[in-house]
Amino acid sequence: MTLILALDFGGTKLAAAIVNVGSREWLRYERRLSPAKADASTDLEIMRSLIYSLLQGTKPAAIGVSFGGPVDASTGTVRLSHHVAGWENIPLKHLLEDEFGVPVGVDNDANVAALGEHRFGAGQGYDSLFYITVSTGVGGGWILNGKPWRGAGGMAGEIGHIVVDPAGPVCLCGKRGCVERLASGPYMAQNAREILENVPPKRQGGEILRGLVGDDLKLLTGQLVSEAAAAGDDLAKEVLHKAAWALGVGIGNVANLMNPQRFVLGGGVTKAGEDFWQVLQRVARETALPEVDFEIVPVVLGDDAPLWGAVALTSI
Ligand code: ADP
Ligand code: ZN
Repeated sequence: MTLILALDFGGTKLAAAIVNVGSREWLRYERRLSPAKADASTDLEIMRSLIYSLLQGTKPAAIGVSFGGPVDASTGTVRLSHHVAGWENIPLKHLLEDEFGVPVGVDNDANVAALGEHRFGAGQGYDSLFYITVSTGVGGGWILNGKPWRGAGGMAGEIGHIVVDPAGPVCLCGKRGCVERLASGPYMAQNAREILENVPPKRQGGEILRGLVGDDLKLLTGQLVSEAAAAGDDLAKEVLHKAAWALGVGIGNVANLMNPQRFVLGGGVTKAGEDFWQVLQRVARETALPEVDFEIVPVVLGDDAPLWGAVALTSI
């Protein structure tokens, strides 16, 4: 039995799974939410406990790792995490190789998920695709000519920081109106909160959203925004449509520039429902030239895309 261990360090959760080579089903799978004050060492500690409970004394042939932040894939070094403190220049590949004595591959979650969808999911049989994750952050990963394209410095695919509204709100990267600033889950929550905090007395909408958090606006999340929108809350719909619009503009521009066959979208925010998908599809189509063909489809592997990509990354 040849086992592969796959690890996923997300912005809000940690997941690990093992699989027999060639199998399409996890042998065992574990997932844990990051604590509110997570840092690199708590993440590593939790991941270690997941690994030992999965392995049950067995040894994997290789380990593949998906990391939610910029990674130097050639050395397997994490550059930083935008969402969890303390990940600056952590040699994750070497740490894991030292501890487990097997080859380890590490790459950015969007690149890894692109690989996963290409090998096992919505990208099977496609030569060119752009995978986009819309979750705690917004990132992208390329498959071009059937292979990952990471860019000269490993930074290709940063659709999250394409500017779609130069006069928009300031993003964590310092620019205004990035796709991520309008479409990530936490930023959607922030946008809704800011409108609710400054809501003029006569303005309609927001009641359902307010009700969902019992007036405690700190508890707002992207998920609650989409739940309120589905329940008919106009303010929530406005925030969600702006997010879908931002993604649509970004995707249309990427289509014009690179002309991939497929866009494959995953991450928590893409579960926001039919309305979100319709706006996104329409705006992308309106943004791209009429001659530029593409399809936008949801991930097939769901939340497991990075983990299956991590399996593919080991190339065993
Ligand atoms: P991670 O960023 O850790 O990979 P996810 O892909 O689950 O995790 O993304 C989490 C983000 O997605 C959160 O901000 C959450 O509020 C948001 N989210 C989850 N479900 C939905 C939904 N149905 N609609 C909109 N946003 C959602
Ligand atoms: Zn930005």
